[in-house]
Amino acid sequence: MAIYVTKSFMPPVEEYNNHVAKIFENGILTNQGPNVQELQNKLSGYLGVDNFHYLSNGTIALQLALSAMDINDGEIITTPFSYVATTSSIMWQRCKPVFVDIERNNFTIDSDKIEAAITPNTRAIMAVHVFGYACDVDKIQKIADKHNLKVIYDGAHAFGSKYNDKSLLAYGDVSTCSFHATKLFHTIEGGACIVKDKNVSDKLEMQKRFGHNGDDHQMLGINAKQSEFHAAMGLANYPYIEKIIADRKRVSDLYDTLLTGVVSRPKTQKNLKYNYAYYPVVFKNEQELLNVFAALNKKEIYPRRYFYPSLNKLPYVQAQKCPVSEDISSRVACLPLYVGLENKTIEQIAKIIRENVK
Ligand SMILES: *Cc1c(COP(=O)(O)O)cnc(C)c1O
Repeated sequence: MAIYVTKSFMPPVEEYNNHVAKIFENGILTNQGPNVQELQNKLSGYLGVDNFHYLSNGTIALQLALSAMDINDGEIITTPFSYVATTSSIMWQRCKPVFVDIERNNFTIDSDKIEAAITPNTRAIMAVHVFGYACDVDKIQKIADKHNLKVIYDGAHAFGSKYNDKSLLAYGDVSTCSFHATKLFHTIEGGACIVKDKNVSDKLEMQKRFGHNGDDHQMLGINAKQSEFHAAMGLANYPYIEKIIADRKRVSDLYDTLLTGVVSRPKTQKNLKYNYAYYPVVFKNEQELLNVFAALNKKEIYPRRYFYPSLNKLPYVQAQKCPVSEDISSRVACLPLYVGLENKTIEQIAKIIRENVK
């Protein structure tokens, strides 16, 4: 059986069916039904946050974060080292992404380089807690306060990570999350916004459902609601969160034992309680990465080049240089990491890597 970079966690089917059975009893399929509300309450409690909005995906969450704060033009400072949705959501809202290079240590935006990129047109900073590692949240907030900018965190990878004993999703004016099937905690498709300001939260609530209340049309909106069936998957997965994180830690720890000194690894902050969302490794150069991939692919093992290319190289953005991100992107990969990945497979992967690096 082929081994991919991730495999969706599946709850016991009876437990999913129990939540679906309620939908068949009450006949409510969507529009903030009981499953969506219950999941929203559970997740906001788990994260210790207010103004939590469960949405249809993590991309619309980023777009709503911008629109709810009236950011519909101007420049947004962002990171080139992320999934494409971080950049595309900025552009879809008719804003211009301005890329600031990343830190070598943990691949998050380099906060020392942000101020030099600020212009009179800058409206916000959209940073990413990439792979579940924490951005320099204190420094970024200071810069934002000084220049009157909004801070949005794309926390698609941040669920379960804590910084200074607080969920990483509790920082910034808005934090977003993704509950896509490939993410640590999933609802098949799904996402969330966590909003600091109650007024922004109320606006987002209105915008996520077409901007109206009955016949009272208050503002331009979109459809970002989530269905009761997706929420049912979330409710079925919810009791397993701690087990999911613990088993991912087992996999990561074994990779650590087998690969220390063989490949380089990010250094995480000391105040971070990590969620083990990904296992990125950095090879000496792109050729070494390609050699390792070829050897693993022969055994039907498929790691992924997360994240490649560096987003400043997208064909539809204005050319900007980010040498650190471009360098890391050319030689970083995420190894298979999921609940139930067997020790013998991890050992096989580590052995193939050791045999193909110098
Ligand atoms: C997955 C992901 C998204 C998009 O989330 P979806 O729920 O798939 O729309 C955004 N940003 C990052 C960094 C992601 O990894």
